[in-house]
Amino acid sequence: MAKPDILMPYRLLPIAEAELEKRFTVHKLFEADDKDTQLAKISEKIRGVALGFGPFGPDLLEKLPNVEIVAGFGVGYDHIDVPACLGQNVMVTHTPDVLNEEVADTAIGLMIMAIRELGQAEQWVREGKWAERKPYPTTQATVRGRTLGIFGLGRIGKAIAKRAEAFGLDIHYYGRSKQDGVDYTYHASLTELAAACDTLMVVAPGGPATQHAVNAEVLKALGPTGVVINIGRGSVIDETALIAALEDGTIYGAGLDVFEDEPNVPDALLKLPRVTVLPHVGSASQATRDAMALLVADNIKSWFETGKAITPVPEMKK
Ligand code: NAP
Repeated sequence: MAKPDILMPYRLLPIAEAELEKRFTVHKLFEADDKDTQLAKISEKIRGVALGFGPFGPDLLEKLPNVEIVAGFGVGYDHIDVPACLGQNVMVTHTPDVLNEEVADTAIGLMIMAIRELGQAEQWVREGKWAERKPYPTTQATVRGRTLGIFGLGRIGKAIAKRAEAFGLDIHYYGRSKQDGVDYTYHASLTELAAACDTLMVVAPGGPATQHAVNAEVLKALGPTGVVINIGRGSVIDETALIAALEDGTIYGAGLDVFEDEPNVPDALLKLPRVTVLPHVGSASQATRDAMALLVADNIKSWFETGKAITPVPEMKK
């Protein structure tokens, strides 16, 4: 029997490419010099799409009349037009769970870096200032005694909370509803959560429903000792409002792994002394990225072998 044809629009990790090539005819569009011509040649026979880092929207969907599944890389899927896929009866999958612990580790690391200025302190050593017998200034903030407000107590949010418990932090959360069996303090609005805590951990998904949810009002409620950590999506924070709040002392500091216009980080943010920035590395260890890539391949294999995907996005289950 002929192997199903799979489109790979962007580079995926070698481990997943090799896995898919065992069972499918894989078309690596990213290797073509003239992608439009190449796509036109193969589009009719494509039955699945294995996504790497890159979007999937109606422009690509409309060129693939026989596509059955789009397997996304990453737990966030705001780069995939799910309503358009639903409209064409196309399955969409993502890669939840396999990255929870890695992203939670990064989130806690980022929180401590931001509060205790560890990146800046390391820079101090590298610049030779310590060798000149100048001690790094004591930080005005400490992790001790903080109240952590988690915006998005889902899979990753819970892994962060578990770690934060071990750090002795008081934990509160906000989501669209109070969760059964969760003992952390629930708040029915984000502003209420911000007012109750001094460390706001953003781990909610991107997309229209959360766009700029962390705005000037929320930052004001967080207050002058407040630190914002964003390990979720850049679009969730109004970056202009965040910069203003940091500049005028409305909040104390920030630790950011994600940004509104990646990979561009506004100069105004980089100039601020109590801001820690990372280049979207939440899940970026080789082992975790390999696990995510294998789940992309496994979803496609499962679809063609059993007619079922392993990890469909929630919209597909309704
Ligand atoms: P999840 O299990 O679906 O958790 C998401 C949480 O956000 C849920 O608790 C949900 O609670 C809440 N939420 C969703 N929509 C909301 C809304 N409109 N208003 C308020 N709360 C809302 O997802 P996850 O696996 O933990 O991943 C979370 C996000 O982390 C991903 O979507 C991705 O964007 C981001 N992420 C970033 C990195 C990185 O490298 N920085 C890596 C992995 C993931 P309710 O349902 O109760 O509202």
